[in-house]
Amino acid sequence: MPRIVAPTDDSLAQAADVLRGGGVVAFPTETVYGLGADTFNTSAIARVYALKGRPADNPLIAHVRGVDDARTLVQSWDDRCDKLAGRFWPGPLTLVLHRASKVPAAAAAGLDTIAVRCPSHPVARQLLERFAAPISAPSANRSGCVSPTQARHVADDFSSIADAADLMILDGGDSEVGIESTVVDLTSARPRILRPGSIGVEQLEEILGTMESPRMESQTISPGTSPLHYAPRTPVELVDTMELKQRMAEPANTSGPLAVLCFSPPFVKPPHKPVGMPRRADQYARRLYDALRRADGFGCSRILIELPPADNALWRAVHDRLRRAAGG
Ligand code: AMP
Ligand code: MG
Repeated sequence: MPRIVAPTDDSLAQAADVLRGGGVVAFPTETVYGLGADTFNTSAIARVYALKGRPADNPLIAHVRGVDDARTLVQSWDDRCDKLAGRFWPGPLTLVLHRASKVPAAAAAGLDTIAVRCPSHPVARQLLERFAAPISAPSANRSGCVSPTQARHVADDFSSIADAADLMILDGGDSEVGIESTVVDLTSARPRILRPGSIGVEQLEEILGTMESPRMESQTISPGTSPLHYAPRTPVELVDTMELKQRMAEPANTSGPLAVLCFSPPFVKPPHKPVGMPRRADQYARRLYDALRRADGFGCSRILIELPPADNALWRAVHDRLRRAAGG
């Protein structure tokens, strides 16, 4: 069974040793938990793909201590990078840049670009300090599952995977942001958002000028942003508040029990099963993946999700994940 361990001096030293030995460690970040390996060790990277069951064409994000480390991974680090890192690092912003030739192609799924981020979670930072080199890490879920925001989620996903029997999971509590980082492509003169996150286009435009707006990208441009990437096993349907009320008034024998993520759980009567969601965007984002995992666990035929507003960057990023959960 994977082991959930408290982040102590000893366990952090052990985790860094595992990474040095070409192994894999799960660790918390402020966005979601990551499954980390030494960026420069191709067999360690291969182990991450095998453990996750991740498609070979889906690249990883390299996590770094700061700008000095980031510079070693990319061909050129320009003024825009300095400004973005100065403003948003450490934090949930990932920069896609041209990969330096000494960085193994395997660390970027064979692409000539690489995604780089400096996380703010204290445990991620301590692990990076101890390892003293970049750690490539995708989200620490099995491929096709919902991203993990608690150590328990990681343990749940890997408990039945033989090769994960000795996986160490550093416990950093609930991920504070709760959804994946904003990914910005800086490989051309016109920067664009590949994946929306808590850092919104308005904040980025203060530094970068007018940007292309994020779209539901195709698999080829940024693989992890394909529709369905963030979906639970149970089919998801997005409904507005009016529609939710209508659906709850219908006799349950037409649909069977439904799992319902909503703002007012008392509206949801048995046999339907409510998961109450916060009305504040930051709290909603923090709870979303745990709520989807719980709803998935009910074994209902469908998950209904009451649509939240979309009037700020974080809500729009939440909408992006909800649309993907519903299959695009
Ligand atoms: P995950 O950490 O599981 O959220 O996955 C990282 C995601 O970051 C990938 O699925 C891509 O969407 C994006 N990404 C990572 N590296 C690149 C890259 N070189 N070019 C474009 N997108 C990338
Ligand atoms: Mg992922």
